[in-house]
Amino acid sequence: MSPSAIQLIEQQHTAGVYPKRDLVIVRGKDAVLWDDQGRAYVDCVGGQGVSILGHANEAVARALAEQALTLVSCPEIFYNDRRAAFEALLVSLLPSGMQRVYLCNSGAEAVEAAIKFARLSTGRPNIVAAVRAFHGRTMGALSATYEPKYRDPFKPLVPGFVHVPFNNIAALEQAVDDQTAAVLLEPVQGEGGVHPATAAYLQAARSITEARGALLIVDEVQTGFGRTGRWFAVEHSGVVPDLMAMGKAIAGGVPMGAVGIRDTVRNLAPGVHGSTFGGNPLACAAGIAAIQEMQRLDVPRLAAEKGAYFRERLAAIHAPVVREVRGLGLLIGVELRTKVAPYLRALQAEGVLALPAGLNVLRFLPPAVITYEQIDFVVEKVAQVLHTAVLEQA
Ligand SMILES: *Cc1c(COP(=O)(O)O)cnc(C)c1O
Repeated sequence: MSPSAIQLIEQQHTAGVYPKRDLVIVRGKDAVLWDDQGRAYVDCVGGQGVSILGHANEAVARALAEQALTLVSCPEIFYNDRRAAFEALLVSLLPSGMQRVYLCNSGAEAVEAAIKFARLSTGRPNIVAAVRAFHGRTMGALSATYEPKYRDPFKPLVPGFVHVPFNNIAALEQAVDDQTAAVLLEPVQGEGGVHPATAAYLQAARSITEARGALLIVDEVQTGFGRTGRWFAVEHSGVVPDLMAMGKAIAGGVPMGAVGIRDTVRNLAPGVHGSTFGGNPLACAAGIAAIQEMQRLDVPRLAAEKGAYFRERLAAIHAPVVREVRGLGLLIGVELRTKVAPYLRALQAEGVLALPAGLNVLRFLPPAVITYEQIDFVVEKVAQVLHTAVLEQA
């Protein structure tokens, strides 16, 4: 199809750094998105993990409208009622022992702050991250990210970062020494192909860092806020990190990031870090409403139950092109024996939006409010495109 007027304007004026799909999204409600032609799609992109509550959540919308009419901007040099309420609510969800938070505006910024806090706290330079890790696109977060195609054009990156094979305890033992500020891990590697860390691995990361005076940073930007069936994915292993990066779903779709901080992190003093928009009342009001909605709906339980159902149904498809179905809660990957791009396009034509993870994993990040009927619809379409494409190739 030839591009619409909207597409032409974007093509003319955006930086061009995003691969774009041939689709103009104009509206959403719960787990459904509509395009400018009025066609409906079941949304398993979920804003790449942002939309755990689905689209157009009324409580979040109302909180935003009210706060916009009250106070939008208030830098952290002042106290603020919405910020205080948000901090207390957020801390009540965090693993026990995590009593403080730093507020910012995105996942990468949260990772960035956690890296700085780890260096500041330990006085050591090095960060140990994992092969296939994704932590964001700013220079520090990018230095922790593994994928060469994201990194290589931007060298020199921040020094002091090494990558060790994921889920390999021996490699971690070898890499962490008296110059290590922190080990930085995703509890489930999302972009990297939907690979959950084993509980033993996270527990080993905890004990190795503790024994060697380093900190443990967990990146929960994609996995946090119920996505994996617990409020935070580290809870599956019982591990409490020193620093925890959050973002994506935290404020019901409004841009926000945060770092959870244990009292093992030292030297955080006035002036060492900051952000103009960090902790702004608008994002905090949205965050309060979003977290209250997640609690009311019991998002971790929804994600656990619907995720188990979704994975079981996907695993029953048995198309020859499927290598493995894996994931945790509503973070689901279907690894194929071939590239996923044509399948994503075929799904879109059938009214299902999904994501890739790497070149050969189909990734599903639906809102927790997706219905069982919508899951059945998605599975039916996935089965259809996986089987049809095989016939075409044959
Ligand atoms: C998305 C993501 C980030 C980066 O978040 P942005 O808001 O895009 O900066 C960092 N870490 C993980 C695990 C992510 O999934």
